[in-house]
Amino acid sequence: RFITLEGGEGAGKSTQLRALATYLRGQGKEVVETREPGGSEGAEAIRTLLLTGDAGRWGPRAEALLFAAARADHLEKRIVPALDAGQWVLSDRFIDSSRAYQSGASGLADDDIMTLHRIGSQGLLPDRTYILALPQDEALDRARWRDQGASDRFGARDAAYHRRVADAFAAYAAEDTVRVRMIDASGAPDAVTARLIADLADLLS
Ligand code: C5P
Repeated sequence: RFITLEGGEGAGKSTQLRALATYLRGQGKEVVETREPGGSEGAEAIRTLLLTGDAGRWGPRAEALLFAAARADHLEKRIVPALDAGQWVLSDRFIDSSRAYQSGASGLADDDIMTLHRIGSQGLLPDRTYILALPQDEALDRARWRDQGASDRFGARDAAYHRRVADAFAAYAAEDTVRVRMIDASGAPDAVTARLIADLADLLS
């Protein structure tokens, strides 16, 4: 099974990913925890290219191609071999982040992002995608807090940008209710994990 966690900055994706992996291992599953951009040696090298330098280092098109190239490598070297071996793969971000950031917020056409995904990654989609959603105010507070401390070139986005990302994620959840689920990410981390586990039950049987 292939599960992805998505959401804006500070939504708690990495904490929840670890908690879900622990839960699944307790259910006897072999679990691979990974992230994007990155997750394989080549893709981590592209991550460094993407995250370093000043804000104008890459234009939106070059950036979208780099994300797609990183994903192609990640899929080929890490995700597909693990799925073929019967393992569960949990990824912090995947194609829906490309759609939300490079299309929804940065203005490229959604079709173009999906075309890149078809070329690079054969259009592979997860079995389930959880969008960790926070109320708008809380999301902006956490994003701002993150941006201030951020050492990468994505640290300087404005509130309108973060709002476009959140709106795009919400639209994907509405458009594909089978694969994509919105999970309320507010409250204690344990409570969020419990919501995820409850939703995941149908994939475990
Ligand atoms: O998930 P994480 O916070 O590690 O992501 C690193 C940065 O890359 C974030 O600032 C995120 O907004 C950005 N990103 C992006 N487009 C993607 C994936 C991540 O701009 N497709």
